[in-house]
Amino acid sequence: MPEPFVSKRAAIYKDVPDEKWNDWRWQLSNRLNSVEDIEKVLPLSDSERRALQTQGIFRVDVTPYFISLIDPDDPEDPTRLQIIPRAEEMQSFTAMMEDSLAEDRHSPVPGLVHRYPDRVLMLVTTQCASYCRYCTRSRIVGDPGQTFKREEFEMQIDYLKRTPQVRDVLLSGGDPLVLAPKILEELLSRLREIPHIEIIRIGSRVPVFMPMRITQELCDMLEKYHPLWMNIHVNHPNEISAELAAATDRLTRAGIQLGNQAVLLAGVNDNVHIQRELVHKLVRIRVRPYYLYQCDLVEGAGHFRTPVAKGIEIMEGLRGHTSGYAVPQYIVDAPGGGGKIPLMPNYLMSMSDHKIILRNFEGFITTYEEPTDYTPDKAAKFKGLKRPEPGQKGLTSLLDGEDLFIKPEGFEETHGRDGIQHRLKDESKWKPLGIGAPKEE
Ligand SMILES: *Cc1c(COP(=O)(O)O)cnc(C)c1O
Repeated sequence: MPEPFVSKRAAIYKDVPDEKWNDWRWQLSNRLNSVEDIEKVLPLSDSERRALQTQGIFRVDVTPYFISLIDPDDPEDPTRLQIIPRAEEMQSFTAMMEDSLAEDRHSPVPGLVHRYPDRVLMLVTTQCASYCRYCTRSRIVGDPGQTFKREEFEMQIDYLKRTPQVRDVLLSGGDPLVLAPKILEELLSRLREIPHIEIIRIGSRVPVFMPMRITQELCDMLEKYHPLWMNIHVNHPNEISAELAAATDRLTRAGIQLGNQAVLLAGVNDNVHIQRELVHKLVRIRVRPYYLYQCDLVEGAGHFRTPVAKGIEIMEGLRGHTSGYAVPQYIVDAPGGGGKIPLMPNYLMSMSDHKIILRNFEGFITTYEEPTDYTPDKAAKFKGLKRPEPGQKGLTSLLDGEDLFIKPEGFEETHGRDGIQHRLKDESKWKPLGIGAPKEE
């Protein structure tokens, strides 16, 4: 087991017996959220006090377990920065948005985000065990008035039933693991009744905020709904405690594949050595680093943002330098609903008709000789596997030969120069003569 960060529980919660401490309901009902509560366990700065006293600030709540992972003597403690608001949170910045990923625009029914062809994000609650200050969904998260209603859940299920292209449902919120156990089980069993849903995923920070929630009983319940995957959210090695290790052990023994989604945060983990330590500790507790996200352009998160170059530098320091299993993908979730875009350093330096030039993680420059006798599509049995993605065109349709180009909006009008239709403008001129013609389906 990795060396756990020394929890401050013994100092600040010495009167709480194990039986209470290890009860997740006790953790939830004893969360800290005011200046008075928090000042009992750590001295607040003026900036933190001011933020905590501001009306309308994104909800604050911290479990006693998680707050005990903070070093009270370090005002810049990485755990503290993630969970205790500071005055900077109220500062606006260029390009800041309420819903930077345009999730609400991609919701066919409330709480269901269908952005990608074969998978959906299902927001099942607005509540969390504790609230991350950089939350991408702070527009709805934490607000009990925004929580999803029974009718909305039925609409989500109904949409999924009539949308057979969806084979992967990602439960998120809020945090699905704060739902009452019965409701969570009902949700999973209702999803499992839909034959085309192949995998279910849960996105949760509960194992990190409140590892005692991951009881054997919960794991026994989850195990009934396989194939089930789970992504947790750890940002800094200090969050990898003995308790979290025990929780991930129970989950993996129940056959649940665990991944981690971290967010690149200024002052918390924007350093290659911290990231390497983080991914090493994650694989030791059998959690595979999945994504490292660039911080979104969301209200309240301005002071956490780093340049994208920092993310590239971190990836440069991971790939090749450590196990492939420990290397996440670095992702910019594009504003305006562009979706997840992976970024990495350039390894392809140049190419000719028969050779490519590559560099490795050490800066060694090499060549790869291309085959001269390659016949594509010899493995021709893929025809029955080809899956039409309703409404999805784009690069795939260019590669498949269904389209020859993609035009920006207004392209025709601009290039028509307000001219007239005349004999030289015959449309057939711009159709390929046989070879390369778009295929008729
Ligand atoms: C992140 C996300 C998913 C899942 O994406 P993967 O890359 O498959 O993990 C699905 N839907 C939405 C809207 C998302 O933001």
